[in-house]
Amino acid sequence: MTARGKTARRPTSTCKRCHRPVAWWRSSTREGGWICVDASPDDAGTVQRVPSREGGRPVMYGLVLSGLELAAAVADGELLFTIHSKTCPAGRPRNPRPAGLAPTERP
Ligand SMILES: [Zn+2]
Repeated sequence: MTARGKTARRPTSTCKRCHRPVAWWRSSTREGGWICVDASPDDAGTVQRVPSREGGRPVMYGLVLSGLELAAAVADGELLFTIHSKTCPAGRPRNPRPAGLAPTERP
């Protein structure tokens, strides 16, 4: 528990499994997809926030970066966020990972 007071803004969502603050953004690459990220930006993050509008209402999209795009965003000082499932302490999948979906580890 933190001693922080309530902010006037509506807080971001909370992960149902670990109760940490998270944000849900629309996926920029997958129609109808959603990306759940940690509410706070992270130096090691890979998701760029992409504010947009739909029907006059603000909508937040998340763009998962990799490779050169990610390097460029880091060089530009972009705020990047981490996919919450990577940090969620309750997010360890019980099922074996399907082949071809191994996480890309970078040195
Ligand atoms: Zn969680």
